[in-house]
Amino acid sequence: MTKIPAEFFVDLHTHSTASDGALTPTQLVDAVAAVGLVGFALTDHDTGNGLIEARRAAADKGLRFVPGIEISAEYPLPGILHILGYFIDPESTALQEMSRILLEGRNTRNPRIIKRLNELGCNITLEQVREVATRGTQKDRDIVLGRPHIAQALVEAKCVATMKEAFDVYLGSTGAAFFDKERLTPQQAFDCIHGAGGLTVLAHPVQLRTTNPAELQTVVSKLVDIGLDGIEVWHSDHRPQDCELFLEFARRYNLASTGGSDFHGSRKPDVLLGLGRDNVRVPVSVLDKLEAAWQAHQKRGTSTPKTVGGSAA
Ligand code: AMP
Ligand code: ZN
Ligand code: FE
Ligand code: FE
Repeated sequence: MTKIPAEFFVDLHTHSTASDGALTPTQLVDAVAAVGLVGFALTDHDTGNGLIEARRAAADKGLRFVPGIEISAEYPLPGILHILGYFIDPESTALQEMSRILLEGRNTRNPRIIKRLNELGCNITLEQVREVATRGTQKDRDIVLGRPHIAQALVEAKCVATMKEAFDVYLGSTGAAFFDKERLTPQQAFDCIHGAGGLTVLAHPVQLRTTNPAELQTVVSKLVDIGLDGIEVWHSDHRPQDCELFLEFARRYNLASTGGSDFHGSRKPDVLLGLGRDNVRVPVSVLDKLEAAWQAHQKRGTSTPKTVGGSAA
């Protein structure tokens, strides 16, 4: 079989310093070019603040670029429901309103986590966490402070030896300093993404932690009923049999298939840009099809509420 050259691959799931990635949007674009991908999507948690810089830098390098976002939605623990939005308008009021609500949720949660950590004898401050998050970037830029920043601050303060220990002992859902953040319902997240002109995609379905394919199918089918447009098939957490199953769901429910590494730079050193598990890569045809699905979606003129606050799922 002929080997497909590297320039025909993309990565549709990446994070920058606008959330908890380690590279600025411009550095990320440089890295995308350096590993030979032809395009990528920036999908920061809860914010589109890196998108305009990334779009400009991608255009300078002649790379294809998809403005995206990743939103955490309500779902029973220990499962995690993340929804990716693709082709969102970075300047839409729907996106800005949603980000404002999600940031407020984090601004309530982060001080509670820090307070509990202090009570447990880990003396770190919110200022130290902010310093970790903005290191190497403009200090006044808007960023989404998340648990990986707190984990890194804990490592630097020698409260724990590794990021993993920080999550296992303190920050993970069973950790001693865990507080959940306010989330949107899946319906609200879909309405926001559609309101910002984008497509909705179920991120890394393995993290829903369903126990069998039938249970997963029930979740997917409910999400389809309320406006799911796609499913992330290839991801650094997915084994080959997971990808097979998610491709089958994509066919069954007529969903777009997407894929990406979930690159966070040095904050998740095991995840490499452009590569899934076992070095699986995402061909550019996946992006072509996603773009075609987006154009079809726009033509259909799906209802596009402009503010947060749709009915709960
Ligand atoms: P937050 O958005 O603040 O809730 O943090 C979510 C981020 O923390 C995501 O990037 C996750 O990958 C990361 N994360 C969640 N649990 C763990 C864990 N056990 N170990 C390492 N990273 C984690
Ligand atoms: Zn992250
Ligand atoms: Fe995620
Ligand atoms: Fe992610």
